Amino acid sequence: MIIIWGLRVVWSTIATGVFHCRKCGGDRNYRHRSGRRFFTLFFIPIIPLNKVGEHVRCETCKTRYVTEVLKAPTVAAMQAAVTDGVRGMVVAMLLAGDPGNVAARGKAIMVVTGAGVTGYDEAALVADLARPAADWRPSIGAFGGQLQPVAKEWHLAEMIRLGLIDGPLTDDERNTVIAIASDLGMTPAQAYGVISLTEQTGAGEPGA
Ligand SMILES: [Zn+2]
Repeated sequence: MIIIWGLRVVWSTIATGVFHCRKCGGDRNYRHRSGRRFFTLFFIPIIPLNKVGEHVRCETCKTRYVTEVLKAPTVAAMQAAVTDGVRGMVVAMLLAGDPGNVAARGKAIMVVTGAGVTGYDEAALVADLARPAADWRPSIGAFGGQLQPVAKEWHLAEMIRLGLIDGPLTDDERNTVIAIASDLGMTPAQAYGVISLTEQTGAGEPGA
């Protein structure tokens, strides 16, 4: 009788989830797998030997990645950062001024729907305004982390235009603009620059 023996790596799944697959170019299901070498007898794993490492495998294209790939944000997470960040900014601006101003509320809803939140309406705004402004700050920070400097300035200018709807910026509104700028990763000097430029062009002008 011939004894057939060998070595084989057996993979076991230690976790599953959704990640951003670079090869597929989108969010996909993954398996986080850990491998162990086995001594096999007649192709059957008999004796567990050393561990051979871990990887993350895309369930769609089967590409294997090092586990660090899980640290990259998914497309869904990046989109959530955009929408939560914009919602947080308009909430902060409205609360700093007159949250009851109809025109300002309309502008706020327009800014949020413009950022891709379809169906964002008065009721959604009321719910967002009920959350403390401080809750939104991490979202504004995450949003700023995705933006190029010129995009940060554009979004900040939008917030200033929102603040200008019910009249010139109050001290509270001005300080809120500086705080938003800081959360977005801008310096106070940059924020003052955007404020003075936007104040000159006025509340009604689209774009600075
Ligand atoms: Zn893939």
